[in-house]
Amino acid sequence: MEIQILGSGTCVPSDRRGSSGYLIILESTKILFDCGNGVTWKLEKSGINYLDIDHIFITHMHPDHNADLIPFLFATKYPAEKPRTKELNLWGPPGFKDFIKSMQNIYGNWLNPDNTKISELENHDYSFDEFNFSAIRTGHTENSLAFRLESKGKSVVYSGDTDYFDEFIDFARDCDVLIIECSLPDRLKRKGHLTPADVIKIASSVKPKILALTHMYPICDSENIYEQVDNETDCKVILGEDFLSINF
Ligand SMILES: [Zn+2]
Ligand SMILES: [Zn+2]
Repeated sequence: MEIQILGSGTCVPSDRRGSSGYLIILESTKILFDCGNGVTWKLEKSGINYLDIDHIFITHMHPDHNADLIPFLFATKYPAEKPRTKELNLWGPPGFKDFIKSMQNIYGNWLNPDNTKISELENHDYSFDEFNFSAIRTGHTENSLAFRLESKGKSVVYSGDTDYFDEFIDFARDCDVLIIECSLPDRLKRKGHLTPADVIKIASSVKPKILALTHMYPICDSENIYEQVDNETDCKVILGEDFLSINF
């Protein structure tokens, strides 16, 4: 499995970190976790044709996690030499269908490409040809989700935006890669987001093989977030960067 971090940042503009987007590349399936502003362009920069994406899973309704659905869907309408042929599956939390419909009310048919299926994620497991998928509510917003994906014995968990909650430990336990938000330094802790102390607590129970820190506000880049977490955990810690690939 390969993961490409397309956006390791937040809503706050940063010349180092863009808004959330994570590309999961399986043998014959390409999946996007979140589609924050700039992600469609970054796919192209990563050498991935946006028409090849099979599934987009959205964690929650903050624009830094879904705003680029507008350019993505608009581009998918473009009558290119090779128009999109495979089905595009859009998945989001409860309320997601209304969200897409509202955008279509504004932009009309331009945001309504052919062969697109829109679904809301329920609290159960999903099976696809090449992977299994499950979601859990995180409490960051009223309907925010975290994701777990397993394929051929490999697993990745993406926290989305979240604060610490006990159920997440079982949900993420023993995954190969845990992509976890680490929004702010401990001294700036605010409800609804994680800091290094929270990440250390989670990682010590979940015991992922690889812990990838992401969703960092610009202030994190002037503090030793990475060292703090790396010193206190046994797993391999990666400081997320835009365009960083994780192969496992
Ligand atoms: Zn966010
Ligand atoms: Zn958020």
